[in-house]
Amino acid sequence: MKILITEDDARIANFVAKGLRAEGYVTVVASTGAEALLLIQIRDESPDLVLLDLGLPDQDGLTVLRKMRGVRPELPVIILTARRELGEKVRGLDAGARDYVTKPFAFEELLARIRATLRDRDQETLTTLVVGDLRLDLQTKIAWRGERRIELARREWALLELLMRNPTKLLSRMQILNQVWDYGFDPGSNVVDVYVGYLRRKVNGPGETQLIQTVRGAGYRLTPP
Ligand code: CA
Repeated sequence: MKILITEDDARIANFVAKGLRAEGYVTVVASTGAEALLLIQIRDESPDLVLLDLGLPDQDGLTVLRKMRGVRPELPVIILTARRELGEKVRGLDAGARDYVTKPFAFEELLARIRATLRDRDQETLTTLVVGDLRLDLQTKIAWRGERRIELARREWALLELLMRNPTKLLSRMQILNQVWDYGFDPGSNVVDVYVGYLRRKVNGPGETQLIQTVRGAGYRLTPP
């Protein structure tokens, strides 16, 4: 995991770099906005996260932030600055910063914010669920079996997403009912079986492997072929 430290104060840059390296991160330091903007565009050098000081010698940090967002909108940026004013913080977050740490800061706090930001990023990048040749694109809400597009109603989608998030795991009717339908649904209802039936007809085309298994008396599971 590589972190770009954009900081013109060498003492702070070194302190942060040293601390991050001790935690196993790879670090690279830019002392100007121009240098940072260059670094995020070099394919093999590009960082996973940027720490950005707002008071840089060559250009305003918020301008650097906007330019970064223009080049790599998905790159998470944490602002690191001595400016305490609420207005600066709001402008930084408005400009697309993920988080904000005010100097002087406890190194542990910075670390915790870096971890949280990287965790969020990892969750966002998980946009497609794949089991065998079955794919769910969580952003466009389109399902595919191989090259065949599958049209799903809302509950069918929720049911398939639940099964695909838990491949090979046995899910009981109650678990499915609670997660796809609202609580309070009659547990004796056969709605789960009915919807699994709908889903099977859509997911398993003629000649395709059955992906949704019935475990008699227990529930259902999605098994890769
Ligand atoms: Ca500075």
